This record gives sequence, C-alpha cells and structure tokens, in this order.
Amino acid sequence: MIDANAFRDVDPGQRVLMGPGPSDVPPRVLQAMAAPTIGHLDPRFLALMDETQELLRYVFQTANEFTIPVSGTGSAGMETCFVNLVEPGDEVVVCINGVFGTRMADIVNRLGGNLVKVEAEWGRAVAPEAVEKAVAGRKPKLIAVVHAETSTGACTPLDDIACIAADAGALFLVDTVTSLGGMPVGVDAVGIDAVYSGTQKCLSCPPGLAPVSFSAEALNALESRKAPVVSWYLDMGMVRQYWGGARKYHHTAPINMVYALREALRIIAEEGLEARWARHLLNHCALVAGLEAMGLSMLVPEAERLPMLNAVRIPDGADDKKVRAALLADFGIEIGAGLGPLAGRVWRVGLMGHAACRRNVTLFLAALETILKAEGVKVNAGGLEAAAAVYGQRTG
Ligand SMILES: *Cc1c(COP(=O)(O)O)cnc(C)c1O
Repeated sequence: MIDANAFRDVDPGQRVLMGPGPSDVPPRVLQAMAAPTIGHLDPRFLALMDETQELLRYVFQTANEFTIPVSGTGSAGMETCFVNLVEPGDEVVVCINGVFGTRMADIVNRLGGNLVKVEAEWGRAVAPEAVEKAVAGRKPKLIAVVHAETSTGACTPLDDIACIAADAGALFLVDTVTSLGGMPVGVDAVGIDAVYSGTQKCLSCPPGLAPVSFSAEALNALESRKAPVVSWYLDMGMVRQYWGGARKYHHTAPINMVYALREALRIIAEEGLEARWARHLLNHCALVAGLEAMGLSMLVPEAERLPMLNAVRIPDGADDKKVRAALLADFGIEIGAGLGPLAGRVWRVGLMGHAACRRNVTLFLAALETILKAEGVKVNAGGLEAAAAVYGQRTG
C-alpha cells in the first residue's frame, strides 16, 4: 500500500527564471493550459490547431504551409529536421561553436550522414568564410547552423551562410530555439529550408513543443527519400497528414500544450515582433551596462552578442556554485552555469521573452552586487545607475 497523504500538493514557489531556459511563463499561458482537455480530432481543437499554425507562421515570418509544433522539446525539433532530411551517406555540413552544434553533429553521425564539421571557438560566431571553405569542392545536401548558441551567448548571422547554401544547392537548416521571438529570424527573407525552435525560451511557454517549418524544397527532399524516415514518431510525412487537411490520426497531440503555445503566440502577436525584439535589445544593453560598470566583463565580443543570453565572466575570487546558490536561495533567481570548456568560467544570464524586463535586470544586478560583496569580491559601485541610464536614454 502507498500512503497518498505522504505526498503534498505541488508547490514549487515563484522563481525569476534568468537562465538559459525555461523562462518565466506569463499567467495567461498557464491559465490557457488549464482549459478542459478535449479530443485531438474535436472540431474545436482542429480550429485551435489551424490558428496555432497561423500564429507560428507569423512568428517565423514564413508562408511555409508546413509549419507545426512537433510533440517534444527543442531537441525533438532538431532531431525532426535531421531525421527527415538526412539519409545514410548524405553529405551534411554542420557549424559547431557550442553545445547545440555539437548535438547536431551527433545526430548526423547517428543517421549515418557524411559529416563535415565547421568549427569555431566557443563564444564566437561561425565565420561565413569558414563555411565557404568547407563547402568548396563538395556537394552537401544540407548546411546546418545554430542561430543563437545558448551555451555561449554568441549569435551567428544567417544571411551569408544562406547564400553559400543556395549557391551549393544545399538545404539550409537553422536552429532558432533561443532566437525565435527575441530577435529577427525571418525564415523566408533569409531563405531557410528547415527551421526548428522550442517553446520555453523567448516564446515564454512551458517546455514541451518544438515549432518546426519546412520550405517546399525541404518537403521535396522528404518526398524523394530513398528509404523511410528511421523515426516513426518524428516522420513528418505522416505527422503532416494530421496537421494538414487529411486530419489523419498519427499520435495524440499534447492538447493542453497546444493551448499554451497558442496563447504564448497570441501574446507575441499583441506585442508585435518588432517591439519584442526592441525590448530584448534594450534590456540586454541595460544588463551589460550594469555588469560592466560593476567591473565584470562579457565573454562574447560586442558585435556577436545575443540579446537574450548573456555570458558574463566569473570575476576573480567568486565561487561559481556558491554565487548561483545564493541567487536562488536569497532572491529566487535562477541563472545558468557555463558548459563544456566554459564550465566555471562564465555565468549565463537569460533575458528571454516575458523575463526580458527592467524589473528582472534591476533585481539581478542588485542581487549579484549584494552577493559578491558579501563574498569579499571587489565590485565597483554604479551598476544600477548605469543600467538605469540605458533605460532613461531609450525610453525618456
Ligand atoms: C535549449 C536549446 C535546444 C534544446 O532544447 P530542449 O528543449 O532542451 O530540448 C536546442 N538548441 C538550442 C540553441 C537551445 O538553446
């Protein structure tokens, strides 16, 4: 027998989510999730699916008909793109400048693709010249890049690499898990063939769905495969028949997650993409001004920084784990640790979606200053004033 009374209600308390994701979820999204679960073929749910697709096309800035939320987190979106478009022996160029490019390469290897790596230093953008060099003399089927490398805070611009892919006759695959909803992505304007994202970064929705969109060329590559997609669950040839006109059962859609995503996207449409990008940039500038005034330094060179993920060097004398633990225990703030070669060297401060706001920036700077001073780490005065000055300039 199990004693049901031994288990309490779920009560995680309120946190300020300023890490690499998940980010703070607006109450409206949580309320939408609590709506009654209905059937995945109920006409009312089908209508919500259509609206979700329409909102996703707006956020991705695409006219691609095949634009859906895949059931699973951002990594399921990544796997969806590769598993549908790569067959054994296909040449695939993967740009690697952090954890997520490394994950892409792992997936290509598992699929038996012929992997060509383009590596860049962690904390830097991938240079288009390096991609050009790797592609020279080859005929890759696909070139893949992570737009916003959440493990380092570096942004790789897409336009030049898109041109290289187009010239090589390759499909262009982009990870926009962290960039979507926080900075311009422009799927059609850039010329992206396969794109995926996740719900819990700048879309400010709980984790659980992976928005994915394929161009006509990507769908054509899927339709002209020699062998079936090795994943049954992520075979977009079949999933497409549920999200498209046929409404054919494949797997049960995560109904309440779709409600949540639709509400999160509706909030984005209300704010407007341009205003949302400007808000991310403003809060990023204020955070960096505050940190630099305190005497801390950023990992990524200014021109290559992401607005929504800020990697700041851990100052001398500060204990990485102790500082993060104090932020969480004393202020309820979650930030991210460094990964791989950056472990113990940086903190990753997220300003994603709903969490990109003046209140969070101010709270974080004050909390960090308090903790560092208590630890005996030398911090310059004036961090909060420097941040306030950025807000004053831009809004006043
Ligand atoms: C978070 C993230 C992923 C993986 O998403 P999960 O939801 O953790 O599976 C992939 N790529 C990037 C750039 C990310 O930031």
